[in-house]
Amino acid sequence: MKRDPLDPNLIQQQLKILKNAAGLPLVSEMASEEIKVQILPDNHITPGKFKAHPSIPNTWFAHPQTIKAIRPDVFVLGENGLEDFETICQCKNCQQSFDLQFFKLCPFCLLPVHF
Ligand SMILES: [Zn+2]
Repeated sequence: MKRDPLDPNLIQQQLKILKNAAGLPLVSEMASEEIKVQILPDNHITPGKFKAHPSIPNTWFAHPQTIKAIRPDVFVLGENGLEDFETICQCKNCQQSFDLQFFKLCPFCLLPVHF
């Protein structure tokens, strides 16, 4: 089928493509960008626990003490998050268990984690 460059349908199609192309770099940039995680302090959350924000994605609530104990690299997640790397350890001081992937300090007593 011969394409008439002045065919209004074709022009509309091309406009659509242009619009998509303009939108694409932004989308792909977003997709390749690491996910930023935000953790907001909430005194009602049990230390060592996280509660997902009901409406904002990648936003969690945690006890201020928990936030203090969080490893700084937790705030940037890869596409798959951290779930695959769960490493539960027990604090030698308070005997509470927590996930090493999230914390550099024990979230319960803030004792530094020793390997
Ligand atoms: Zn502890």
